[in-house]
Amino acid sequence: MIESKIAAQINVRGVVQGVGFRPFVYQLAAKYELSGWVYNTSEDVTIWIEGKPKLIQSFLKGLTRKPPSQAIIEHILTKYDNPTGCIGFTIRSSVINEGKYQLVSPDIATCADCQSEIFNPENRRYHYPFTNCTNCGPRFTIIEDIPYDRPRTTMSHIRMCPECQKEYDDPHDRRFHAEPNACPSCGPQLKLFDNKVNQLNTNDPIITAASLLKQGKIIALKGLGGFLIACDATNTQAVELLRKRKNRPMKPLAVMVETIEQLKQYCLVNKEEVNLLRSPQSPIVLLRRRVHSKISPSVAPGLRHLGVMLPYTPLHHLLLLETAFPLVMTSGNLSREPIAKDNDEAFEKLSGIPDYFLVHDRLIHSTYDDSVTMIEQGQIQLIRRARGYAPFPVKLSYQGLQVLACGAQEKNTFCLTADKYAFVSQHIGDLDGPETVRHYEETIELYKNIFRVHPEIIAGDMHPDYLSTRYAIELATRLGLNFVPVQHHHAHVVSSMADAGVTSPVIGVAFDGTGLGTDGHIWGGEFLVADYHSFRRMAHLQYLPLPGGDVAIKKPYRTAVGYLVTLLGDEILNADLPFLEQLDQNELNIIFQQVSRHLNSPLTSSCGRLFDAVSALIGVRGIIQYDAEAAIELEVLASRYPSETGEYPFCWHDHESVHVIGLDMIFQSIIKEIHNRTPIPVIAKRFHNTIARIISSLCLTISKETGITQVALSGGVFQNRLLLRRAMKLLKADGLSVILHRQVPCNDGGISLGQAVIGGTLSAI
Ligand code: ZN
Ligand code: ZN
Ligand code: FE
Repeated sequence: MIESKIAAQINVRGVVQGVGFRPFVYQLAAKYELSGWVYNTSEDVTIWIEGKPKLIQSFLKGLTRKPPSQAIIEHILTKYDNPTGCIGFTIRSSVINEGKYQLVSPDIATCADCQSEIFNPENRRYHYPFTNCTNCGPRFTIIEDIPYDRPRTTMSHIRMCPECQKEYDDPHDRRFHAEPNACPSCGPQLKLFDNKVNQLNTNDPIITAASLLKQGKIIALKGLGGFLIACDATNTQAVELLRKRKNRPMKPLAVMVETIEQLKQYCLVNKEEVNLLRSPQSPIVLLRRRVHSKISPSVAPGLRHLGVMLPYTPLHHLLLLETAFPLVMTSGNLSREPIAKDNDEAFEKLSGIPDYFLVHDRLIHSTYDDSVTMIEQGQIQLIRRARGYAPFPVKLSYQGLQVLACGAQEKNTFCLTADKYAFVSQHIGDLDGPETVRHYEETIELYKNIFRVHPEIIAGDMHPDYLSTRYAIELATRLGLNFVPVQHHHAHVVSSMADAGVTSPVIGVAFDGTGLGTDGHIWGGEFLVADYHSFRRMAHLQYLPLPGGDVAIKKPYRTAVGYLVTLLGDEILNADLPFLEQLDQNELNIIFQQVSRHLNSPLTSSCGRLFDAVSALIGVRGIIQYDAEAAIELEVLASRYPSETGEYPFCWHDHESVHVIGLDMIFQSIIKEIHNRTPIPVIAKRFHNTIARIISSLCLTISKETGITQVALSGGVFQNRLLLRRAMKLLKADGLSVILHRQVPCNDGGISLGQAVIGGTLSAI
């Protein structure tokens, strides 16, 4: 008996475009002798197949069993129908559905196949720095709109040569519909310029650039998401020169190393870290540096960790092969500005920093920094979420209205929600310059357009002076929408809940630098009982003054003086404390006046400032050059005594049913330690132990009061690995479970997700 044929329409949603999905479908259909067609739409890949029922079942199984490596299938909808009697299987042209969207692949590091081609002298792409295929290469940085087809990318103006076109049209080829497909005869080309914008006459700009790097020169090179500035990481003179020209005296610089084998000479690396370095996202990973290595100490002065990445474009692979030494690779931007993306922009803005510019003619549509990550507790933690990760969404556990959450002031990201997706943007940066604000507004428009989001609610921080809040209020007014102000630490905690897919209330520990509280004071050492709708402040570090406000953040010694005088009285200024002796007597008097008269000395419960104060008090760092420097150095010192378990005493009292954690005994103990000449690293370690104990004691108390046993840790303070590990250990020993961030950073880069969830669940269906 001849088995009758049936037909099926299959809609596949997820990251299914730009990843070789249609050729995969084509080959699968051929394998099971099915006829029909496949095409991309604005929201999915649509498949029509006709054939024997059994073979259609095998096809459906095959779709999910081994899809292309970069595809992520979110949803498959199958509808059976009557066959049309079509013959053969074809790939049809894309269809635009008004108002529909799809997930878009982030950029993908060069795959192994493309790597072997660029190193093979027989291959036509030998040494071609823009080699890519459907498994790798630029994606979101070049996409102008969806569906993802070449005319809607920045490659639209570059015509493929016959050979490239043949690959592009052949469903059996790895480059079938690889939108940025290119080769030396038709694709983008490299050019090398000096710092007066004169083009250098060279047959091979990469070899010339490598020899210039060997001479200690500094080169700006155009990468995937923008310009990077490179120099020889083993040449201290070159690194120092780069620091001087970029006006970046201390902040650590990232390093690119050719292979894992080379990397092992400079850093300690475990299996998870190797996997992360080699992943398609290819982020910067913070690794323990070896004490003696060829990498210049100036790359990350005084730090235990080094930010390292592997080459993620053919250009990087080729350059590192030529130099044979690791390169500093730092973002090509001026401070307070986004990373430069166009050639002319780089020539103008970066002028004075590099000696040479290595540029090309593939345009970048959206600026992306390199992502920064670390492996902690065996899992990835994002510190800066950008290239390779955004715009892949966080999956939400509910479906609410479409929300635009405008994020925080520092380390800004924004977040748009649609259906069950939260599209958290790439790291935008600190919103303190007009260029960054422009980049912020443009990127919001790009995301709104690509994901077809028409916000119905605007959420933002409660702080009226954040530029993101001002933007949010202005937009809400203009569009006649509700603005939902969200308390900063509530957003932190909900961000970590949404990140982990938790919906039931948690004890949220939000420890960070600064966030406006509902009482008008600066919060940052908070214990909240929170869910997606509301929170209750259960406990916090006691309020102490920041003499001079923002000035104290840059000058932790001011915070130290403010805290000491308030906690221990003015006589403390006569105590024999080395850090006081280094201060200018006039300034000390001014600080004292400010604190005692409550002049320009806002009150804060910030844990970040507590770390600053202790760091300054014990003589580690009194003035900082970059965010959290004083706390980071304190952690570095404390790490020298892993087995030191001492703690300082503390207590809390209840004020209007909130536990207020007193800090006077901690400071008294530290002063006693200074007078007893206890080694500074021991004090640093005992202080870390004390903060971990505060976290566990308060969480246990709150757990007994509320019956909640889940603790969410959020806020930038938890980038401190020593503190995080110790706190986790104590919390677990008390029988509490701990939620950590995985998909978005615990710092203010994660705030927008929390805002979006709080704004969106107000109206949850
Ligand atoms: Zn490839
Ligand atoms: Zn070509
Ligand atoms: Fe924060």
